[in-house]
Amino acid sequence: MAQRLKGKTVVVTGASSGIGKSVALEFARTQPDDLKLIITARRIDTLKEVAKEINGFAKGVKVHPVKLDVSKPEEIQSFVGQLPDEFKEVDVLVNNAGLVKGVAQAPNIASEDIDVMFSTNVTGLINMTQAILPIYKSRPDGGRGDIINIGSIAGREPYQGGSIYCATKAAVRSFTDALRKELIATRIRVIEVDPGQVETEFSVVRFYGDKEKAKKVYEGVEPLTGDDIAEVVVFAAGRRENVVLADTLVYPNHQA
Ligand code: NDP
Repeated sequence: MAQRLKGKTVVVTGASSGIGKSVALEFARTQPDDLKLIITARRIDTLKEVAKEINGFAKGVKVHPVKLDVSKPEEIQSFVGQLPDEFKEVDVLVNNAGLVKGVAQAPNIASEDIDVMFSTNVTGLINMTQAILPIYKSRPDGGRGDIINIGSIAGREPYQGGSIYCATKAAVRSFTDALRKELIATRIRVIEVDPGQVETEFSVVRFYGDKEKAKKVYEGVEPLTGDDIAEVVVFAAGRRENVVLADTLVYPNHQA
């Protein structure tokens, strides 16, 4: 696998914490001598810490931290337009940035929470994909690269109080499936990884910073870690080109 990822340029969105940070670290662990890693999120100071951590154990990895809010199309445009030359030839995009706001029955969900979930989880992911695809398609070999979308069990099994978040992840699923079909004649792989419960800042964001409530989400289940998902993502990227892990659901044991 290490050989297949050698020299690759990887973009990870939402790499300042949780699954995205784990994905960035796992790519660096797997390919410590020759990897270009573009890590993005809104919290640039935290991203710089992640870059420092990576360079502490993987001196050969070139890390480029970029402040990027995926819900802002103009930021995505300038992100791609301003990539330094040595990072321009992106091979792998991991669309991980995402969030959930609140737990509420559908009629009571604030419209700003609906907007933020859709503009981040859905439109942000689509805009990132549209921005990177021309790089893949312009390759002389007829188009090559990986799009790896982080969906969720919530996109397959909607739950009460999570209608909007679940709808965003169902939208990710439909978009990913359709894109895979559209690109079937190319060497571009479209991959979805759907985590079950993973312990990250996610629940804290969901309850607007209330850590006590966040803890209760995991009662009765030993949640996955970000590293568990990162291993699957990097495994998918490291398969030989003809192998597409199109659709992988990763549960913690005992999650109903
Ligand atoms: P975290 O809250 O730990 O991480 C979310 C990441 O997304 C952060 O790095 C955050 O960075 C970034 N982010 C949020 N909004 C934006 C934005 N508008 N633009 C750019 N970056 C943004 O949660 P997870 O690691 O758990 O979540 C990662 C993905 O995994 C999400 O798509 C989530 O839906 C999915 N998922 C999580 C599960 C879980 O149980 N934890 C289960 C199933 C799926 P910053 O704040 O710096 O911008």
